[in-house]
Amino acid sequence: MAYTIMVVDDSATMRKIIMKTIRQADLPISEDMEEAGNGQEALVKLQQSPVDIILCDINMPEMNGLEFLEQARANPEWNHMKIVLVSTESSDDIIKNAIANGADEYVTKPFTPKIIAGKLAGLLSQ
Ligand SMILES: [Mg+2]
Repeated sequence: MAYTIMVVDDSATMRKIIMKTIRQADLPISEDMEEAGNGQEALVKLQQSPVDIILCDINMPEMNGLEFLEQARANPEWNHMKIVLVSTESSDDIIKNAIANGADEYVTKPFTPKIIAGKLAGLLSQ
């Protein structure tokens, strides 16, 4: 089975880098990934077609990653979706706060294929 992924980031360049890094990781994922430029756009797209894993930036206009997390976790139909927050911020407080608010994982940008492979493999085996 190939897992479906959505990458949410306000930088199109960063989305491309993240998608490339994920493809380089040896994971059972679909080659075609969904993209969104902010939390609001992600919510709209997910209503049309949910995915298995979301990698979501924190700092974005319109709706940031923490607001997106709150909205997504308020929808019980999306309980199965794994949400990984992605940010340049790596303070323990931010990470703990994200996990406490329903994020399944947290990864700091920039990350290597090996790092994301490890994080996603842990989530996919749950
Ligand atoms: Mg950003």
